[in-house]
Amino acid sequence: MIYHSTRDITLEINAADAIVKGLSSDGGLFVPDEIPKLSMDEIVSLGELLYPDRATEILGLYLTDFRKNEIKECTQKAYTKEKFETESIAPIYKLNDQTYILELWHGPTCAFKDMALQILPHLLTVSMEKTGVDKEVAILVATSGDTGKAALEGFKNVPGTKIFVFYPTGGVSLMQKLQMQTQEGENVGVCAIEGNFDDAQNGVKEIFKDRAYNMELKSSGIELSSANSINWGRLVPQIVYYVSSYAELIKNEEISCGEKINICVPTGNFGNILAAYYAMEMGVPVNKLICASNSNNVLTEFIRTGVYNRNREFVTTISPSMDILISSNLERFLFHASGNDSELVRELMNELSETGQYEIPDRIKTKLADIFYAAYCDDKFTIRTIADIERNYSYVMDPHTAVAQNVYEQYVAQTHDATKTIIASTASPFKFSGSVVEAIAGAEETEKTETEFELLDKLSELSGQKPPKSLSDLLDKEIRFDGVCKKDDMKTVVDTFLR
Ligand SMILES: *Cc1c(COP(=O)(O)O)cnc(C)c1O
Repeated sequence: MIYHSTRDITLEINAADAIVKGLSSDGGLFVPDEIPKLSMDEIVSLGELLYPDRATEILGLYLTDFRKNEIKECTQKAYTKEKFETESIAPIYKLNDQTYILELWHGPTCAFKDMALQILPHLLTVSMEKTGVDKEVAILVATSGDTGKAALEGFKNVPGTKIFVFYPTGGVSLMQKLQMQTQEGENVGVCAIEGNFDDAQNGVKEIFKDRAYNMELKSSGIELSSANSINWGRLVPQIVYYVSSYAELIKNEEISCGEKINICVPTGNFGNILAAYYAMEMGVPVNKLICASNSNNVLTEFIRTGVYNRNREFVTTISPSMDILISSNLERFLFHASGNDSELVRELMNELSETGQYEIPDRIKTKLADIFYAAYCDDKFTIRTIADIERNYSYVMDPHTAVAQNVYEQYVAQTHDATKTIIASTASPFKFSGSVVEAIAGAEETEKTETEFELLDKLSELSGQKPPKSLSDLLDKEIRFDGVCKKDDMKTVVDTFLR
């Protein structure tokens, strides 16, 4: 399989190179030349396999320069019952006859980013061997919460790698901060920085851009890399669970062979829903992909009008992992939907960086409207949805999943479509206990609790479910990283860690 840059069709590299490089030097993202196809028989037979083996089959279609046993080793290490609490890895909860909740948050950090970040380190180390990069890889991450912890858990104690994460002092929740401060592993480092997320991200970018420093590290055998969500090695593992859950629904006789489904995804960077698009192009029968946003509704407008405009106010919401105005992975969709027209993508992306907006040609607008439905849901309705679902089904959802549920309800109210629908559930409700307790029991209950751990207990009492061990255990864990640095000292901190 050949990979191109979304901004340059003449660039041709293999999957291992794409994973090591992360981003193309022209600013584009790596994309496969064509999307591999699965027959319905092949999809059905995946249902007979365990999750790691399903993943091996699907990854093998994209990572054609990997040997089958290399991929198998990666999937076996990543998707274990110890790490995901359940052998099915991504269990499906049947909410009612029409709605299936695909729970993607049983991994070590309780959010769906584990689905990709548990396997990325293994794919990366194999890719390094293949491309002959005989160096230790050092991952640098700036995080606003979920990604940093998921990357730390994924890379911890992976031979040949080190990882360092910066987070803004005031910008993450107490639970997220504790998750990072108590991180275990011999090859990890964490530091808070005085400033906000942008400061942390800009500081990391400056280190990546510092050529002299990168050369210096290279000569001491260290290659800097990122675990950014635009890396192909993060996207391809996400395709697996959509194909897998279709096979699972057939196996459980919930749908018949070839029956169309809808897939509804709470969206930020357009990564998770793009993975659903790849699954559809591979042969999973999809009626509509439903793109759910919170009040940062730039994608809703784009899908409805064909105009992408990021010149708008950034809104802080109770579904913070979707508070994004630039959905980087959209670029990959534009490449495929335009018939691999890298020139068009390059022009649109230039327009975006110069004016903050672009408009796609009519032929792509038609395609977009054919494939997607889009709507958004603000905090008030998110809270209301959590409460309604708990009352009607005794099922507790996190705020990100509730955004998707609400948008799905809007879709059904508008279209009366009775197609069976998978809703991607992206976080454990316990990871956002404050908002969830408030939704179910009222704001007074949240105010009565003093710590995040009391909130866990409260939610446990309300839901009748035990909090994930990885969260409740934090209380007894030793704080290993309580350092805070100034933005200007980030390079020194990284350097001290690496040597
Ligand atoms: C990252 C994240 C999202 C958004 O996923 P994208 O791939 O960026 O669209 C949604 N929910 C949760 C809980 C997340 O952590």
